[in-house]
Amino acid sequence: MDCLFCKIINREIPADIVHEDDEVLAFNDINPQAPTHVVIVPKRHIATLNDIEEDDLALVGRLQYTAARLAKERGFADDGYRVVMNCNDQGGQTVYHIHMHLMGGRRFTWPAG
Ligand code: 5GP
Ligand code: ZN
Repeated sequence: MDCLFCKIINREIPADIVHEDDEVLAFNDINPQAPTHVVIVPKRHIATLNDIEEDDLALVGRLQYTAARLAKERGFADDGYRVVMNCNDQGGQTVYHIHMHLMGGRRFTWPAG
């Protein structure tokens, strides 16, 4: 399958991996928008948020759980951080394998930046 994140999961493309378990991989974003910018992906290919099914709910929860664990490990959980999932073109999705961005280590504004 011609999917960038599947290739990272399969070790066909290198990435700076910061967490791995049976279901989830997390790696540093190549174009970081914050001191910590980690991309957290399910190992199973799901193209967009719209493709999540009932059987995937625990897996999606694991993305969130992984984000919180990494935030705690890095010491900014209490200060605060941002998680983002972009969906489709207008949502800013560029890689069509669902992923959660974990960004921390600076103050974020809302709704932009
Ligand atoms: P999206 O725009 O789909 O929500 O997020 C895709 C993210 O993947 C972007 O933040 C982008 O910088 C990151 N990205 C794109 N290509 C690569 C790559 O080859 N390696 C890594 N580590 N991150 C990538
Ligand atoms: Zn994929």
